[in-house]
Amino acid sequence: MMDNVFQVARNTLNRAGDIGRIDQRVMEMLQAPKRIQEFRIPLKLENGGFKVFPAYRVHYCDALGPCRNGTRIRPNLTLDEIKALGLFMTIKHCAAAIPAGGAKGGIQADPAKLSRNDLERLVRAFVRSLSPKGPWADVPGADIGTGEQAMAWMLDEYEQITGNHCPAAINDKPAILGGSLGGEEATGRGVFITLKAAAQDLGLVLSKSTAVVQGFGQVGSALAELLHTAGTRIIAVSDVFGGIRSSNGIDIDALKAHVAENGKVVGFPGTESVANEEIFALDCDIIVPAAVQSVIHKNNATDIKAKLIVEGANGPVTNEADEILAEKKVTIVPDVVANSGGATVCHFERTQGLSDQYWDLETVNAQLEKRILGAYRDAAETAKAHGNTTLRLGTWISALKKIEKAMKLRSWV
Ligand code: NAD
Repeated sequence: MMDNVFQVARNTLNRAGDIGRIDQRVMEMLQAPKRIQEFRIPLKLENGGFKVFPAYRVHYCDALGPCRNGTRIRPNLTLDEIKALGLFMTIKHCAAAIPAGGAKGGIQADPAKLSRNDLERLVRAFVRSLSPKGPWADVPGADIGTGEQAMAWMLDEYEQITGNHCPAAINDKPAILGGSLGGEEATGRGVFITLKAAAQDLGLVLSKSTAVVQGFGQVGSALAELLHTAGTRIIAVSDVFGGIRSSNGIDIDALKAHVAENGKVVGFPGTESVANEEIFALDCDIIVPAAVQSVIHKNNATDIKAKLIVEGANGPVTNEADEILAEKKVTIVPDVVANSGGATVCHFERTQGLSDQYWDLETVNAQLEKRILGAYRDAAETAKAHGNTTLRLGTWISALKKIEKAMKLRSWV
């Protein structure tokens, strides 16, 4: 059975709290979200049918500032998943030195089975249910199942309700409505920046290394493209339909064109098929899981030969696998650092919206690199200062110390 992702996140939280000797009152507060909104959204469908959609918004912790980010729409969505993602978002903001709280929201629905019109009405109804209070309280953004169009609907609904234009109220919107340049590529770019830094620390030369990438969506394809350009031989790539491998390396630009035409990586000329379960055991230097949670677990962690894992996805490594890999001295750049590029550019997006000054792409990318390298270095230093623990625990300990300080200054604890 797949591990409960919230329990996995909370186990990491509590281990970091123990090692970092975080105040028990702070830890008690962080065992659950500060606020959970739960809705049932009724929708009269275009085809004459009717459906009620469960939906949630979780404010995990707002000790450092207003809650922000992520709206997921998928069929089997659970409240625990949203809680875990809200906790991850809290830690990510701390890691990237962003004065914001962590939030996540979601609707249990299959966007692929809804007409465009029904999806728009569902997204707008979600915004009305939230009664949004603006950029200083809660700023929703995109996640799996939502994108720029959904965020444009959310922004418009918010502005219709309040009667004010306020681009900083919603993240991940199109640039023409006040979104940031570089937002779509930001997470993949951030994964690449941390991968490069960690590879350098391990003495791995990217142009002489091999890599495996699971997931070829927004994050995986952007990361793979940058890695390919850096000269790394990408020997396997997979998506939900299966994987492909080639010991000579896969041409990522050509693979992107193949996926645009065929909808999947399988069948890419010059490669053989490989099952998703087998790709992590391939002989390679670097693994980037950039698909879904809990894919590296106790049953496949022992077979991993790579020296470096960079977590593009949220929660791809279970607690048990984490321990096995730490013993095998495999370096893991944790999700809360590696994939924080999207959250970081969302911070820039909000900053731009509030100041009404919009940045060019070079500025966005330079600021992203600075923040994310800072997060990586902070994780490495904190890990070293705590008995050479893992980068994951280093990141969480550093974040918890910031939250502890903020809660004490506010006299919450
Ligand atoms: P996406 O929907 O664009 O792409 C997901 C990819 O993973 C697709 O190629 C899909 O086929 C593949 N996939 C899905 N299920 C799979 C499975 N069981 N096995 C193998 N492959 C599978 O999503 P994305 O935006 O690229 O996000 C990928 C991961 O990164 C998610 O875990 C997400 O939470 C995380 N993440 C994304 C962002 C972002 O900005 N997009 C930010 C932070 C974290």
